[in-house]
Amino acid sequence: MDLEDAIQSCWSRIDNGHVATYIPALAKVEPYQLGVSLYDLKQNNQTGAGSTKIRFAIESISKVITLLYAIEQLGMTTVAGKVETRQTGFASDTILNMEITKETKPLNPFVNSGAILMTSLIKEQDQQSPFEQLLAFTRELCNDNQITLNEEIYHSELRTGDMNRSLAYYLKAKEILQGDVPATLKTYFKQCSMMVTCEDLANLGAALANDGVAPWSGQRLVSSAAATYAKSVMMTTGLYNESGTYSVKIGVPTKSGVGGGLVSAAPNRYGIGIFSPALDQAGNSSAGLALLEVLSRELNLDIFK
Ligand code: GLU
Repeated sequence: MDLEDAIQSCWSRIDNGHVATYIPALAKVEPYQLGVSLYDLKQNNQTGAGSTKIRFAIESISKVITLLYAIEQLGMTTVAGKVETRQTGFASDTILNMEITKETKPLNPFVNSGAILMTSLIKEQDQQSPFEQLLAFTRELCNDNQITLNEEIYHSELRTGDMNRSLAYYLKAKEILQGDVPATLKTYFKQCSMMVTCEDLANLGAALANDGVAPWSGQRLVSSAAATYAKSVMMTTGLYNESGTYSVKIGVPTKSGVGGGLVSAAPNRYGIGIFSPALDQAGNSSAGLALLEVLSRELNLDIFK
């Protein structure tokens, strides 16, 4: 299929969205951008169209990486014992669900409470800080050594992240989170502020689609069980409260971030990275999801078909 045509057909959907403003540094991003990279596992190559090399903040897509890293470090049993894999029905940064229903574990690793808990599990190792380890792991999973921290976005999140702060202290008060809250939050805000491209996300998606093995090197990056677990949670909660809607419409495990990125893993077929920063009401890339819907239809990617 022609990716340029697909971009053209979805371009007007940018008008339906707005760039995120609750993180002030993200409000400055130019909304009229759309890019897609497609890693074809059969051909073992990547193609793309549009803004494939533009860097943007990974935001919540980093939650997939931290989850995978926590599983690699601590083992599946430990991680799965600390967080549920349920949908929330609430905004991803809400504290309400835990407070009202007296949860003893965050409902899944992609709501902010669950993600912050996952980050708190990463400990300093070989004199590498948790963030240094996460950055190195992200570079490996995305096959890109140029991924760096955007200091402006990081400081913007640090300054305005009071909801995340309250969530983390709530978890600490309930003895769900152990360790130092400010240090954990710094790592969390830094992981969200790593700058990636569509090509990076297509590589990450391809490794997940390929059972945890990097198709570009043949090297196993994460266990098969970790890749399967991540894809399942992406399918059920990767697109905030609209995950069910897109499970029906698109049918491909996908995680979004408020930087406008989308990563998809179509098992044994493709890794997909998409970027378009204007977001819909739920916080997902508006034109990006329209484009993913086109790809799913044209390439027959729906895993339920
Ligand atoms: N850093 C953002 C936050 O914690 C990530 C949000 C997102 O992409 O959903 O609010």
